[in-house]
Amino acid sequence: MLNKDHPRYESLLYRQKIVDAHKNGILADSGMIAHGRGETFDYLIGEKTTANSLNTIDIASCYFLTRKRPVLSVNGNTTALVAEDIAELSSLLDIPVEINLYYRTPERIRNIERVYKNLGVKELLGTDDDDFIDTPDLNGPRSPVSIDGISKADLVFIPLEDGDRAEKLAALKKDIVNVDLNPLSRTAVTSTVTIVDNIVRVMPLLIDAVRRNEDVDRKVLLEKIDSFSNRENLDNAISDILKRFE
Ligand code: ATP
Ligand code: MG
Repeated sequence: MLNKDHPRYESLLYRQKIVDAHKNGILADSGMIAHGRGETFDYLIGEKTTANSLNTIDIASCYFLTRKRPVLSVNGNTTALVAEDIAELSSLLDIPVEINLYYRTPERIRNIERVYKNLGVKELLGTDDDDFIDTPDLNGPRSPVSIDGISKADLVFIPLEDGDRAEKLAALKKDIVNVDLNPLSRTAVTSTVTIVDNIVRVMPLLIDAVRRNEDVDRKVLLEKIDSFSNRENLDNAISDILKRFE
């Protein structure tokens, strides 16, 4: 049992979710290591949502509300931590969830599929019933992508994604919204919009932002998108980390 008075209660709670997901066949071994890398950067960021992150979340919501076919692409870590929020965002925007695993096995796909079906997700792609094409030039088990999912999408949300795949998606001219605590990762640098923050804090704020901007004029949303620079956003995130060392 976790003690609520523990100064690192939240962090321990999420570690427990990661451990449980690993036990339940949702998370690969390497997913546990990826979580640790995330924790390190979260420590440096101060384990809170910065003003810069809040602004980037707002921009991400503008993308979701102005693109024709966004897709929420999820892996084991995202499922372990925020499956409920993913289901809620999918229902709010009426967009599909695509399962995309770095280490794809039929068993893990089935386990993750069950999580989202139980949460009532209507359009679930990337399951073994789906039709696949290969992401060009990307070899290995994470190369297949759902035809209905990513290949038709104009915007892909790829939280906690690996750099190889992000680079290939960018080469396919997709807009990419990413959540990554590491502002230096290849995924962070390659994406159109990188939210440098913990996915567990981002999802509720992203859902709020979509609700807030839902009825805002499209022109206003597009203007906000135009004024955003991801490079500037990443530089702000890096300088926020540096300030913590002063
Ligand atoms: P890249 O391949 O993009 O250069 P990487 O190899 O460090 O980076 P991966 O292990 O492939 O990254 O992907 C995991 C990424 O997800 C890491 O950058 C890690 O910081 C980030 N991450 C892990 N947990 C979280 C979390 N809870 N919220 C946000 N980001 C996270
Ligand atoms: Mg990587």
